[in-house]
Amino acid sequence: MTVEVISIGTELLLGQIVDTNAAWLSARLAEVGVGVYRRTTVGDNLTRIVAALREALERADGIVAIGGLGPTDDDLTREAIAELLGEPLVLDEGEAARLHEFFATRGRTVNERQLRQAMRPRSAQTIPNPHGTAPGLYAEWHSKPIFALPGPPNEFQPMVVDAVLPRLAQRAGGCVIRSRVLRLCGIGESDAEAQLQDLISSSNPTLAPLAKLGEVHFRITARADSPDQAEQMIAEMEHAVRARIGAYIFGVDETTLEQAVVQSLIEAGQSLAIAESCTGGLLGHRITSVAGSSEVFLGGVISYSNALKEALLGVPREVLQAHGAVSEPTAQAMAEGARQRLGSWWGIGITGIAGPGGGTPEKPVGLVYVGVSDPTGTVVKRQVFPGDRATVKYRATQYALWLLYKGVKHGGCASLSPL
Ligand code: ATP
Ligand code: MG
Repeated sequence: MTVEVISIGTELLLGQIVDTNAAWLSARLAEVGVGVYRRTTVGDNLTRIVAALREALERADGIVAIGGLGPTDDDLTREAIAELLGEPLVLDEGEAARLHEFFATRGRTVNERQLRQAMRPRSAQTIPNPHGTAPGLYAEWHSKPIFALPGPPNEFQPMVVDAVLPRLAQRAGGCVIRSRVLRLCGIGESDAEAQLQDLISSSNPTLAPLAKLGEVHFRITARADSPDQAEQMIAEMEHAVRARIGAYIFGVDETTLEQAVVQSLIEAGQSLAIAESCTGGLLGHRITSVAGSSEVFLGGVISYSNALKEALLGVPREVLQAHGAVSEPTAQAMAEGARQRLGSWWGIGITGIAGPGGGTPEKPVGLVYVGVSDPTGTVVKRQVFPGDRATVKYRATQYALWLLYKGVKHGGCASLSPL
């Protein structure tokens, strides 16, 4: 089975926004065995949209249209589908009621323009949109499926997963699709791919890499006749991946690294205190974003100045003078100071140069030392991270969380190799 993707919006043609939806959709369609041979981008013009839909339907077994379903005058997708089908637009009572309720709960009434979103070509069905006001549309043209979905990615993506993929997969032959994301840290995308090359080329289940800032994800997707069979296929693929690079996997699906860290601390019954310099509280923010972190996270010190590093954490003045604030011994003293002064099992110290200024040949922008301390000892690691100020700060917290995760999982600081 093949489908064509039609992205609708003059903004796309003018280069004001990038068509991330089409790229994301193409990857999801490939995973479920649906071929995409062409993608089209068309502006907000009724005649050209109708022509684009018709031409694509003449070539492919179905189409997915993106965007142009909102309430404004340049949102023309539903009119275009009606014209293609030779049908009038009718009001969908269910969607109209939903819109009235949506506005009523916000103390407003629906206007004529908003109500356009509840219109559909007579033979079309609406596709629920839990994250916005414009529903999607499903229609058929000579038995070929037409999906139309709203453009905002947070609305578009769940609708693809819930409504489009299952229906297309069914038509493509397989009955159910299941997927699971494995999340890795401490290994680069290319190294991970190199170790999984043969698995990545398998076609069902598929294994697809996705590089994220400071971590790598692998999505496993299986097509099968039953949910049990799909789950079984995923479990086997996951097992094969874990056998090779399991040491880098910290979680599955939506699990964040900070959640994995907090969970591992809770399981170990160990507490944490932190001392942050260049990350300015970002590590504390990430940890406290996890519900339940109060069970293990005592708190931290944002010791940006040398004076506070000395006064609050007991970093010796001689260390700061001899080695500087961004140095291995300072990171060590910060981690130990956090642990001892704040009374925790684990202590983390982060010091570095986030840039863009302040770098030297010996201490370049992006240089970060992370100290990790527990009752068995203290380890300091040095990294030079690429990227702008915000990226360096984020990567530094990611690295600190990863070291801590490994330390907790493997029985303490002694398991982390020295610098
Ligand atoms: P709305 O109800 O928000 O008007 P819509 O279905 O009418 O949704 P558009 O008006 O075409 O969609 O686009 C709304 C917004 O969705 C755009 O400003 C853009 O931020 C995003 N968007 C639209 N199409 C795409 C796309 N192909 N890729 C990424 N983002 C998109
Ligand atoms: Mg719009």
